[in-house]
Amino acid sequence: LLQSDNGKIGESLKQPERLEHARASGDDGQLVIGLSIDTLEEERWVKDRDLFKVAIEELGAKVDVRAANGDDAKQIAQAESMISSGVDVLVVVPHNAEACAAIVAKAHQAGIKVISYDRLILDSDVDLYISFDNEKAGELQAEAIVKQVPKGNYVLIEGADTDNNAHMFKQGQMNIIKPLVDKGDIKIVYDQFTKEWIPSNARANMEVALRANQGHIDAVIAANDGTAGGVIGALADHALAGKIPVSGQDAELAAAQRIVEGTQTMTVYKPIPKLAEAAAELAVKMAKGEEVITDRKVFNKKIDVPAILLEPIAVDSNNMEETIIADGFHKKSDIYRNV
Ligand code: BGC
Repeated sequence: LLQSDNGKIGESLKQPERLEHARASGDDGQLVIGLSIDTLEEERWVKDRDLFKVAIEELGAKVDVRAANGDDAKQIAQAESMISSGVDVLVVVPHNAEACAAIVAKAHQAGIKVISYDRLILDSDVDLYISFDNEKAGELQAEAIVKQVPKGNYVLIEGADTDNNAHMFKQGQMNIIKPLVDKGDIKIVYDQFTKEWIPSNARANMEVALRANQGHIDAVIAANDGTAGGVIGALADHALAGKIPVSGQDAELAAAQRIVEGTQTMTVYKPIPKLAEAAAELAVKMAKGEEVITDRKVFNKKIDVPAILLEPIAVDSNNMEETIIADGFHKKSDIYRNV
């Protein structure tokens, strides 16, 4: 997974001159990896943090975690504090794709490499990007909904405009939908980003969409499970929950429950342990000054960032057993609790 065994477009990161910054690890010589995380408000990020921490510790290093509660100034200040405390590598889940470029610049001044985790930091010299194939995630969402409703009025409830992933998801969705829009089969009657990915904002937007179209909506593509929850809440107020397909993403427990209950059509399952473990392994390698090889690159408006993109998986009620449940992502008894 981490090594490019096909030897294709192997991109080796520059070997750091042995970093001269003050070491957070102090005398024990243990490497310290900083994790700067946008928020812990959503179920997935708590998993990411916990799994990353375990993986780093298994590799014999330590983690310093800071969560910024969606506040750019706070995220930058927290990163600065980790940089001055001398972390060996910084792993960042950016709240704001552009604002976090400042973190990369500051870390580099101190000789610290930065890994962009799940979300890409734009317009920066970030050293590595590890995520899922986010465009594919958007394609999976649209494919599942189009399968149910090949023609009709579509609502797009997108993610936060400040998150590069939200744009990748939309790009993927449009790859599937645009040809059908051009043919006249699908009409996009409402299309909005969701401020800060907050479910209540998605719910309010869905309410606007329903009113503007007198309820004549046939399908909703919601960018993640949080926004899907908001959408389904609004649909329920109009006695439409379960009557209109709605997509999601993250395989949150609440979403898996809605899928088996019939109010949500699908979710995109992204096996977080794979991401957290791969990121931990790479962070420690980079901290040791070892070579890291990837087989692709993603342009971030400034450079082609060496990237590793894992596969997302579409999950509905038919394959929940062999995916989410088989992996132990959620327990079957929890998913079926209400049915
Ligand atoms: C992540 C999604 C998540 C969303 C909101 C995106 O960048 O890829 O998994 O649902 O942020 O936190």
